[in-house]
Amino acid sequence: MTAHPDAPVPVTTDLDTGGFWQAAAHNRLALRACLDCGTVLHLPKVMCHRCRSTRSGWREIEPVGTLASWTVVRAALHPAFPPPYTIVLVELDAAPGARLIGYLDGAPDLAMGQPMRATFQQVRDQVTLVQWSPLPAVISGPSPDSLVPDLS
Ligand SMILES: [Zn+2]
Repeated sequence: MTAHPDAPVPVTTDLDTGGFWQAAAHNRLALRACLDCGTVLHLPKVMCHRCRSTRSGWREIEPVGTLASWTVVRAALHPAFPPPYTIVLVELDAAPGARLIGYLDGAPDLAMGQPMRATFQQVRDQVTLVQWSPLPAVISGPSPDSLVPDLS
């Protein structure tokens, strides 16, 4: 997807969220975490809700998650985002409870719990968005090969 010239972009130098955008610019996913107890602080905040420490930093997180929800937008709301498009909510596997939002073109077939992988989309100098791509769902049960009768 190529960014529309009028697409809104995030402020990447914000004190509370800048580390997220700096990591994204290097094709990495990072969340703020407490330096004293390790709790992930998402949404980013100054004080740890678990131990009340005010010491925090940015921790690289594996860029994979699970589809928690999604919605398909079929009405034009902004010229930069022609419908249909899909907004996904992804829960990070390495940080349960931390969820990120992403944009997908069109209306792809999705399933609750579907594995998702982050992708990184540079839309301006110093502005890289974290997006999500669906991975094939893990299907449990016998593999198709095990269902083929042995004819030997
Ligand atoms: Zn803490």
